[in-house]
Amino acid sequence: MAHLRFKAIEEAVNRIPVQFEATSNRISEVFGVNVFDRQKMKRYLSREAYDSVVSAMDEGRRIDRKIAGQVAAGMKAWAIEKGATHYSHWFHPLNGATAEKHDAFFALDKNGEAIESFSGDFLVQQEPDASSFPSGGIRNTFEARGYSAWDPTSPAFLLEHTLCIPTIFVSYTGEALDFKTPHLKSLNALDKAAVSVLSYFDKDVNKVFATLGWEQEYFLVDESLFNARPDLALSGRTLMGHAAAKDQQLEDHYFGSIPERVSAFMRNFEMEAYKLGIPVKTRHNEVAPNQFECAPIFEEANLAVDHNQLIMSLMERIARRHKFRVLYHEKPFKGINGSGKHNNWSMMTDSGVNLLSPGGTPKNNLQFLTFLVNTIKAVHDYSALLLGSIASEPNTHRLGAHEAPPAIMSVFIGKTLNSVLDDLEQRISDRKMTPDEKTELKLDIIGKIPEILLDNTDRNRTSPFAFTGNRFEFRAVGSSANCASPLIVLNTAVADQLNKFKVDVDKLIEKGVKKDEAIFQCLRKAIIDSKKIRFEGNGYSQEWIEEAGERGLSNFPDATEAFKTFLYPSSIKLMDENKVLSERELEARFDIRNEIFVKKVQIEARILGDLAINHIIPTAIAYQNVIITNVRGLKELFPDKKEFLSMAENQIETLKKLSEHIEAVRELVRVMDETRKELNLIDEFPKRAQEYSKRVKPFLEEIRDHIDKLELIVDDEMWPLPKYRELLFVR
Ligand code: ADP
Ligand code: MG
Repeated sequence: MAHLRFKAIEEAVNRIPVQFEATSNRISEVFGVNVFDRQKMKRYLSREAYDSVVSAMDEGRRIDRKIAGQVAAGMKAWAIEKGATHYSHWFHPLNGATAEKHDAFFALDKNGEAIESFSGDFLVQQEPDASSFPSGGIRNTFEARGYSAWDPTSPAFLLEHTLCIPTIFVSYTGEALDFKTPHLKSLNALDKAAVSVLSYFDKDVNKVFATLGWEQEYFLVDESLFNARPDLALSGRTLMGHAAAKDQQLEDHYFGSIPERVSAFMRNFEMEAYKLGIPVKTRHNEVAPNQFECAPIFEEANLAVDHNQLIMSLMERIARRHKFRVLYHEKPFKGINGSGKHNNWSMMTDSGVNLLSPGGTPKNNLQFLTFLVNTIKAVHDYSALLLGSIASEPNTHRLGAHEAPPAIMSVFIGKTLNSVLDDLEQRISDRKMTPDEKTELKLDIIGKIPEILLDNTDRNRTSPFAFTGNRFEFRAVGSSANCASPLIVLNTAVADQLNKFKVDVDKLIEKGVKKDEAIFQCLRKAIIDSKKIRFEGNGYSQEWIEEAGERGLSNFPDATEAFKTFLYPSSIKLMDENKVLSERELEARFDIRNEIFVKKVQIEARILGDLAINHIIPTAIAYQNVIITNVRGLKELFPDKKEFLSMAENQIETLKKLSEHIEAVRELVRVMDETRKELNLIDEFPKRAQEYSKRVKPFLEEIRDHIDKLELIVDDEMWPLPKYRELLFVR
């Protein structure tokens, strides 16, 4: 094993960057070439079919089966021209991955001759026989029927030789088994609610969509070193490893120059991303060594989520070409910054107006304030469920680790906007305002917002949910998450709040209150009712944990506690009333989250047990034997006890320390295994997950502490696994 470590280091050190030559350096020439976009639809579809798909995309209209046949024929023609041989429905099951099942276009006709076939029925619906995708008990495995159905709002694309068709994935009885189905429903709810509120400001708006710009963080590790670390290879994170003498203290990696090997990899995957129509825009080093980020230009949220899922698998594939492995785990290295996926979110009208961007006139600014305040209120009301939506076993290692937002929900809007809201709260009242008061309010506060925001550059990196000038940034989302999970909750909560706001304003108008005054009064109420979620201070501090507790804010350091928010009566009501998820679907999601949690901890416990007993302890004993031989030799050479002890004292001390750690590791692994066996008797996953969290996870930490101490003692030549300094700094 030790040989493998040094061989791996040698390979990694001598790695020559894989030369990457783009076929074209002009992004505009390659952008979208592998996407069946509107331009290609125009070319390959009849007018009728084209119009039908476009109205499905823009207005959510249904596509008739007959037309689907024509669309399928057009798609097939395009794909085959581009060299495709297979097609696949592409969807996001609840295990967080993306799934594909490839079928050949190839078929036999009546005479047994080979033809290329792909019908409208296949395009529209498929039965992927996906009995092993998690369904939380909704779909009996013996029935094993789940359907994938075409989502025409996200265009089909080519991956190598396969035509991929984005689809939703539902059970035979219609329950969602994926992220996309409820996400589309939440977008629909938000659209309706926002358009209805916009009737106060702009009657020409027909559609509002959510926009998403994600920022994906990740680590790169050399392939050989990765393979020499079974823990990384099997669980995605290092279960042991002492901190390197130098890691991120100097912060010299952040925005530093990108190493050549990495930059070749980036150019390669970005070029592939452009071909798939993913508008990748920025790339840079992150704070931690070997950590990087990539971010696109924001897009309509459903498409942006698909693009994030797509780029994650694309990066994994391209990384292998460059002898790298990508780590999306939220905390692959202890003591070093973890990886998140910031979700920049806003709402936009069909004419391109960003609803979270202040405009030039008081009227536009009142519109801005309406959407801003209602979003804050929505986050306030459903903060627990929002935390639930981003909770996962790996994300618990990151949240609250003093480099990522805490596991407490709060909203940061900046000092200036904060005082605007405070002013509004004070100046508006439930009684009728005088014309002078109204004018003052409009001129002094509402009219001044754009100027104020321009100077408002303070950004708080410690907040999980921050307003950044023209959008909110949900930063607590983990790097491996599917963005749709938090967006389902956010879109629905905001939709629900906008609907309530509309009802309240209309009620006042009916009573004879003027429209703008009715809006003012309802805004004031929302500002007051959501005040406690606003926090401008340091989210990493101990005082905040205490203050948040006093404010009664949600705080879930343990993911299994956060999962329970799925079953809160308020969550069920929200999701059910807005027709996004039924109670049964929420229960299924709750079950699946817990099941995944248990499996992750179980896998880590097994790997750590195996490495500890079969790699670490034998190595420590071997080193002990080296010392024993040495001590024996000293004793032979120096029979005088005093003389001998003066020379061997330290070694004997080391022998004792080695024994202590060896025994501790052995004993802890034994008790951990016993505990696991006991807990595996618990039938229900939610209960088992809770127990695993409390009783198994702590062992992982304790065992690693002893192993990390051993790493400091044992001869470097003998240590079997690549160390942090090698994993993180070898290019
Ligand atoms: P930072 O690292 O400072 O947070 P980045 O420039 O890395 O910022 O990322 C900002 C992200 O926000 C980009 O993906 C960008 O497209 C996105 N974004 C900008 N405007 C909007 C918007 N209106 N809606 C959604 N996302 C947006
Ligand atoms: Mg950001």
